[in-house]
Amino acid sequence: MPAVENFPQIRQWLEEMGIDSEVIAHRTLPFFKEAERTLLVTAETNAEGKALLLLPEAANAWRRMHQCAKTAGIDLYLVSAWRSVEYQMSLIKKKQQLGVPPEEFFSYLAPPGCSEHHTGRAIDINTPECDEVSGVFGDTPAFAWLREHAHQFGFEMSFPPDNPWGFIYEPWHWCWHPVNPANKSGK
Ligand SMILES: [Zn+2]
Repeated sequence: MPAVENFPQIRQWLEEMGIDSEVIAHRTLPFFKEAERTLLVTAETNAEGKALLLLPEAANAWRRMHQCAKTAGIDLYLVSAWRSVEYQMSLIKKKQQLGVPPEEFFSYLAPPGCSEHHTGRAIDINTPECDEVSGVFGDTPAFAWLREHAHQFGFEMSFPPDNPWGFIYEPWHWCWHPVNPANKSGK
């Protein structure tokens, strides 16, 4: 069950979309507070001209990582960054319109309130040689580079295989975590 104190709110959002919250009742899902829109900055503008937003520190970390990868001959770009709860609901509605059952799409699409993208610290990354954001990304040199270097910029892969949240393996999804100076010493 998602963080218990937030479950009523999630259930209400699901009800608005006509989804029975029973479908996630067996899941242990995290709850992520939506970052305030006014705190966000443009981390990158995508090919369609859409601004992809992140918290300033996460955006800086992304830019530094992007540049460093480029120097190593690895081309990375952002597919997704901050998402509002409302936007998450619109993604879910699209799946509903396609007739995909909630049990299925909730394995790769977080329920509203449960997406790390709400925080303004999570990103989906792709590379030009990879057609789609899928498990295939895990086989690219770009992913190999990230696995080795992303932590140097504060990014961690959130959903490795068999993650406790019940999401599929998402090699493209990384989240920036603030470095605690107390943990930095002694390495
Ligand atoms: Zn993601």
